[in-house]
Amino acid sequence: MTLYLSERCNSRCRTCDYWRHGRRDLSLAAVTRLLPSLHRLGTETVLLSGGEPLLNREWADIASLLAGEGLDTWLLTSGLSLAKHARRAGGLFRAITVSLDGADPETYAAIRGVDAFGPVCKGIRAAADTGARVTVRVTLQRANFRQMAALVDLARELGARQVSFLAVDVANPHAFARRDDFEADLALRPEELGQLEAVICALERERGEAFDSGFIAESPAKLRRILRYFCAVCGLDRYPPVRCNAPEFSAVVGAEGRVSPCFFIAGPGDAWACDGLDRALNRADMAALRSDIRAGGRPECATCVCSMWRERA
Ligand code: SF4
Ligand code: SF4
Repeated sequence: MTLYLSERCNSRCRTCDYWRHGRRDLSLAAVTRLLPSLHRLGTETVLLSGGEPLLNREWADIASLLAGEGLDTWLLTSGLSLAKHARRAGGLFRAITVSLDGADPETYAAIRGVDAFGPVCKGIRAAADTGARVTVRVTLQRANFRQMAALVDLARELGARQVSFLAVDVANPHAFARRDDFEADLALRPEELGQLEAVICALERERGEAFDSGFIAESPAKLRRILRYFCAVCGLDRYPPVRCNAPEFSAVVGAEGRVSPCFFIAGPGDAWACDGLDRALNRADMAALRSDIRAGGRPECATCVCSMWRERA
């Protein structure tokens, strides 16, 4: 289960509108009310995300409550205030994933909109020093794809256990709470596609061990899906085929309490977690939405950068 602890954010990513319009936080009281349905649903892992979850004043109490219930807790953070909270976060989360989109201060600031490369690196190191499993997430785009090797090295230097790469989402105009006209100049241009292929080949040649050990989460073949995605954005190929059953084993609760089948597809407007998460997920219209997704009827899936497939246990 993903819970958005806050719609607010201390980053200013060009890809995102949360930081412009976000106001709400999910309260400790609301999460407490979710507990019976989390248990009824057999929830194993709760990902605390947002917005920036560490901006929620009650984040530690919420994490502590969930961990005390035997739930596996996972934090997804911009990392801006992680250095300050590292000790507490390290003790409360089984895993901490930090977004790090540049290997130097200039690239980081150009993408994230804040001059915070140093503090984020410090936060990653501080959290890793507590013994927590810290991983780094890189959103690949025009401004940083040439830094893939440097980002792998930096993640290692900072004590992260893994680095993963994801293509910047430019195909879904409504992801990341986007309201205004979305400026899509973040994707690679046609003349840069060959350079990305060369970067991936060099990574395979020069950082083979990082693939073999799983330090780079994706296989070279999976990284080439990112290349194919950008080829499709340029109109030079079809989007890579998507296989995803995320809504069959997970769901998202927004800071306002609305339940959705995944990050990119909104649930019915009146599906509220406060009415019972299991009830919201088992409503006929939510089941119909999942069935539509399963049948390949949703356009968001065709261009999704974050599909997930899990075999049934
Ligand atoms: S993409 Fe994430 S970190 Fe960046 S502004 Fe949006 S919510 Fe914050
Ligand atoms: S492919 Fe993407 S948009 Fe479709 S259900 Fe999966 S996560 Fe959601």
